[in-house]
Amino acid sequence: MAAKNPRSTAYSPNGRGLRAERVVAHSRTTALNPRSTGVPVRGIPRTVARTRGLQRLREETYKANMRLVEHGLVVATFGNVSGIDRSLGLIAIKPSGVDYAELSPSNMVILDLDGKKVEGDLNPSSDTKTHVRLYREFPEIGGVVHTHSRHATAWAQACRPLPCLGTTHADYFHGPIPCTAVISDAQIALDYEEQTAVQIVDAFRTIDYRAVPAVLVASHGPFTWGKDAAEAVYHAFILDYVADMTARTMLINPRVK
Ligand SMILES: [Zn+2]
Repeated sequence: MAAKNPRSTAYSPNGRGLRAERVVAHSRTTALNPRSTGVPVRGIPRTVARTRGLQRLREETYKANMRLVEHGLVVATFGNVSGIDRSLGLIAIKPSGVDYAELSPSNMVILDLDGKKVEGDLNPSSDTKTHVRLYREFPEIGGVVHTHSRHATAWAQACRPLPCLGTTHADYFHGPIPCTAVISDAQIALDYEEQTAVQIVDAFRTIDYRAVPAVLVASHGPFTWGKDAAEAVYHAFILDYVADMTARTMLINPRVK
């Protein structure tokens, strides 16, 4: 099977998709006010567009978090999914320490791109600073996932990149999945979550984040991303499958390249 090119389907080359979103958002601002004479009213439609956009973001992010459970990628309260609406400049993320059975679209926490809470009664996921920084550093991603899924985390704890040994891997990740450098004590003292993102970005200095939408954080676990939260979850699922398959391949033939 031919390898999928994530640039052609998953993302918005040259930011075209992002510009399209802005055009849609702009067109909503000039929508007609049904209670008036039909003259566009500045301000009100923008508020309506924001409310609708935010509701869609809450629902998509909630569904993506629940899909982690369906895929068997999380136990207890481990794991978190976030999504971003770049036209609104807002991020929705799972609240911290809340059981998956208690999740709902309404208790997703809403943040801006500085990580400041905009809406929500609960605290955002403890990994929030990593998510937010990845949205700033990787401008074409629309969703981020972090799990402690069994097979990918085993590679992360072994501090080993995941080699590309076959077409299953290459169809989704165009090359080895990098493992970050082990975080230093100084970085941990500074801010573990923020510095985790620094380590991830550093691991992608010579790798296109659009071609390899996953990373293993040394001694911790995987992060994946995609054009939206649903695709980021799908990549987390495929990553764990490939991590398992690769470990088995290397057991059968330790010299495989
Ligand atoms: Zn974690």
